[in-house]
Amino acid sequence: MTFQALVIDKDDAGYRAAVRSLADSDLPEGDVTVGVQYSTINYKDGLAITGKSPVVRKFPLVAGIDFSGVVQQSTHEKWKPGDRVILNGWGVGETHSGGLSQVARVKGDWLVALPDGLSTRQAMAIGTAGYTAMLCVMALERHGLKPADGDVLVTGANGGVGSVAIALLSKLGFRVVASTGRMAEAEHLKALGAAEVIDRAELSAPGKPLGKERWAGVVDSVGSHTLANACATTRYRGAVAACGLAQGMDFPATVAPFILRGVTLYGIDSVMAPQALRQEAWGRLAKDLDLSKLDAITKEIALSDAPQAAADILAGKIRGRLVVNVG
Ligand code: NDP
Repeated sequence: MTFQALVIDKDDAGYRAAVRSLADSDLPEGDVTVGVQYSTINYKDGLAITGKSPVVRKFPLVAGIDFSGVVQQSTHEKWKPGDRVILNGWGVGETHSGGLSQVARVKGDWLVALPDGLSTRQAMAIGTAGYTAMLCVMALERHGLKPADGDVLVTGANGGVGSVAIALLSKLGFRVVASTGRMAEAEHLKALGAAEVIDRAELSAPGKPLGKERWAGVVDSVGSHTLANACATTRYRGAVAACGLAQGMDFPATVAPFILRGVTLYGIDSVMAPQALRQEAWGRLAKDLDLSKLDAITKEIALSDAPQAAADILAGKIRGRLVVNVG
């Protein structure tokens, strides 16, 4: 059996990614073999495929931090051939060969059953970015945030996390304010569910320790000054869910919002999130995401397009989500 995969290599010849033909013997250890149908290009895949950040820590490695597909072989008690599954995170695409491949072998404990109502393509249109948006929304809900509390800010609005967060929050009844560097996409963001669109320049420059109280809640995929300013303008006892670093990994903030306004900052990690939380998130996505809006933010590409797409996502050129049909 041979199959196609996007393989990342690093040696004396340099760091490179290319689609190659692999054999069963190239697959890593694992008790479940999956016929992959779809994978995606997330921001982290962009970092991994281009080598811009040290995401990949073992070479050669198949790229792709997520996939959906059908179980081909299993010695894991929970899975049998024919089961439709999703995988996000757990170091796949970082230390364990990943989903930008026609076949993947992983630990059965890492897999989530595809929820009823979602196709394998829709699951990857959501992908790690959309599932992380759901984790952010769930953190705000656990905080007690209700639509009547006021506006919710979503940063990185045209990105994968941001787009899905807007669609989810608006469906749940929240008034969403979308922050973007692409004001030309304002109508698209409104169609997704944003009530108001602001220029990210309002938030991305160094700001004051405290500003006018604007947000009852925040979903931030940008980090750096944007996250600091979002915290500084969050209302008394409001909450901020931070999951990303598209502007930067720094957090140039003061404690003022936390100690003077009781603001709560939630850190959101999708990679090692416990299984119960993942299952809840995927179940909620199947129920709470308007699939026609998901279609509107999804573009399908082929495996051979993945290296270019990786460079494009880091350059901020991708709107919404890229699904990779591994063919
Ligand atoms: P995308 O590239 O799709 O979205 C990022 C968006 O951020 C861009 O579309 C852009 O939105 C905005 N942006 C880009 N550069 C800048 C900048 N310099 N300053 C301000 N805004 C900027 O990425 P994803 O949605 O896939 O991921 C978003 C972030 O979340 C990434 O940092 C990623 O690593 C992180 N992430 C973290 C996870 C976790 O487990 N914690 C899981 C998934 C993602 P616009 O054009 O609208 O301004």
